[in-house]
Amino acid sequence: MEITAHLENKVAILRRLTEISAVLNSTLDIEPLLGKIMDAAAEITNAEAASVLLWDETRRELRFAATNTSQDANTLIGQVVPPTGSIAGTAMSENRIVQVDDAASDPRHFGGVDEAAEFQTRTLLAGPMMSKDRHIGVLEVVNKRQLPWTEDDHYYLSILAAQAAVAIESAQLVTALQKANVELNELDKLKNDFIAIASHELRTPLGVILGYASFLHETSEGQVSEHASKVLNSALQLRGIIEQLTNLRYLQQRETELQRVPTSLNQLLQEARHDILDMATAKGHQLNMQVEDVTLLVDPIRVAMALTNILNNAVRYTPEGGTITIQTEVRSDEVWISVTDTGIGIAEDQLERIFDKFYQVEDHMTRTYGGLGIGLSIAKVLIEVQGGRIWATSPGLDQGATFTVSLPLN
Ligand code: ADP
Repeated sequence: MEITAHLENKVAILRRLTEISAVLNSTLDIEPLLGKIMDAAAEITNAEAASVLLWDETRRELRFAATNTSQDANTLIGQVVPPTGSIAGTAMSENRIVQVDDAASDPRHFGGVDEAAEFQTRTLLAGPMMSKDRHIGVLEVVNKRQLPWTEDDHYYLSILAAQAAVAIESAQLVTALQKANVELNELDKLKNDFIAIASHELRTPLGVILGYASFLHETSEGQVSEHASKVLNSALQLRGIIEQLTNLRYLQQRETELQRVPTSLNQLLQEARHDILDMATAKGHQLNMQVEDVTLLVDPIRVAMALTNILNNAVRYTPEGGTITIQTEVRSDEVWISVTDTGIGIAEDQLERIFDKFYQVEDHMTRTYGGLGIGLSIAKVLIEVQGGRIWATSPGLDQGATFTVSLPLN
């Protein structure tokens, strides 16, 4: 009869441990998790109180993180327990359950804790919490009364400690990730603020340089005019780079920030063409357009920015006197917009990489084309955030390239 009751009790506790395991695994907030582990430890070993001590790897310290030995848990939380010579330290370093039947006569018992908690510990079980090979901490159950610990208590505590270790490690990882995320966001904001301020501060003197250079270029003759024209061109290049810098923020364009409105594709392309016309004319390029007009539900400013980046590249990466063709094609539920040039072309193995941030086919140090290497990655983000796609094809080096943007027809 007694054996049956014992077995029934054991089954009930093991079932309870399964329930507890599910609860622990679904709690990712460290504080409530420690509270649940502590309560569960006391419950399954029928103890009067329990504590969770966590191992701080950096400081190499064991510290009380949760306890109900005291009415006012704050008196104990944060207390350091010596890693050697203490009961919890022994459980951890020897990776085994340590049992104490008379705490008062055990030199390893850390009396300071009892004093702080006003809890006269008599018997104690300390179980190490390890996850894989990593120390997580120690789970302790304590009694004021003299009640012998059983083998079952050892067994239950070791199961709970193993489950608790995994749950604590997950929660610690989540906390560390959240912290890293906050730090990254702060860093990102700092970077954005810096770029915004720096580019604003650069633009003002650059405006003066541009103004005087173009005045000099127009009002002087001969060598002076030629030199002024060189200054003007370099200043224009610099303005282009500053513009790209300020556009860096579009690499994080969110869908919720889009302003979708019915937009005429033809009008959009005419405007993009207009943006690059001066540059294309200066290089003696011919610009062809074969465009079907459809209405798209897109953010016109963002799509125009993506198309301008592609057109800009077509002009820049095509030697003088080239041809640039803009074509559109309606394909069932989407429209394809392609820009084909007769320029330097792109090797097969570079066709995808050119859309990576700051990636340029040419080496940075020996570049002849300039630019920051972000135009295409910005174009990609701006198109994809609107449900579209962008890709490049090229028959090979020196054989031109085609950039295609597909956008959904709503
Ligand atoms: P950037 O032009 O400022 O370097 P982009 O992101 O616009 O940056 O382009 C990335 C790289 O892709 C360029 O450095 C260039 O090597 C290649 N590329 C882009 N457009 C073309 C094109 N039309 N023809 C050949 N190569 C191109």
